[in-house]
Amino acid sequence: MKWRGRRQSRNVEDRRGVSAGGAGGAGIILLLLRFIFSRFGLGGVVVVGLAGLGLYMAGVDPLQFAGGASPATHADPVDDETSEFVRVILAETEDVWSRQFEAAGSDYPEPTLVMFSGGVTSACGRASAAAGPFYCPGDRKVYLDASFFQELDQRFNAPGDFPAAYVIAHEVGHHIQTITGVSDEVRAAQQRAKGEAEANAYQVMMELQADCYAGVWAHHADRYGDFLDDGDIEEGLRAAAAIGDDTLQRNAGRRVTPESFTHGTSAQRQRWFTTGYRSGDAARCDTFNAQNL
Ligand SMILES: [Zn+2]
Repeated sequence: MKWRGRRQSRNVEDRRGVSAGGAGGAGIILLLLRFIFSRFGLGGVVVVGLAGLGLYMAGVDPLQFAGGASPATHADPVDDETSEFVRVILAETEDVWSRQFEAAGSDYPEPTLVMFSGGVTSACGRASAAAGPFYCPGDRKVYLDASFFQELDQRFNAPGDFPAAYVIAHEVGHHIQTITGVSDEVRAAQQRAKGEAEANAYQVMMELQADCYAGVWAHHADRYGDFLDDGDIEEGLRAAAAIGDDTLQRNAGRRVTPESFTHGTSAQRQRWFTTGYRSGDAARCDTFNAQNL
């Protein structure tokens, strides 16, 4: 993918190195103070408090010693590359989707992308990096733990830069669904659903549509901006296969149970990404009325 040197989005919030809301560090300090109080009484608390204040005034963040990370003052070169990459891909999605919306006579409200490490607090609650990248309709932000890229590479064996772009474009796909009202319809349908299997089926349709939108994005990013290299789409398809529900369950040594699927099979994810990529037409991404998913 020819991503270097391209326009970078300004809609990225870099929260890497910031503890989620600072609550972690403060909580540890409180526990520490309670322990000191129980052992040494109030005098001990005052001494430790003064020591902390002294460190703080000397320019040292005492929270660092209590395990709470303070905001990163510098990022190493690898992180800077990740940041540039994420900003470029987000900018490419802005360009493609604002053109699509414009063609349909409306404005594209750009989402914000939050990069975080460890854990993060969103309008959808607290999440850890283990949850993977997600989109929160409540604040219209994409949340991305930068370590996920390494995980794509190592755990899912989907190396290359395109799979990472595909993941971002998929989350932006959920943003599109929020704007168009599809997300609300799906949630209402899930509440009416009889049982978990039916609710999951709606979730699968929604996820496959986001995959299709990622394909639509790749189509236009390449057409307008000569963005892709040979092999990028194959990389993307390999990634789509690696994160199919059947493959994930099989690789985890579990029985493959279709009624528990929430994202679709490897074959379905590949098929819908391809549908979007080949056509470049978001109208073709109607997974909710598809003859066969
Ligand atoms: Zn998704």
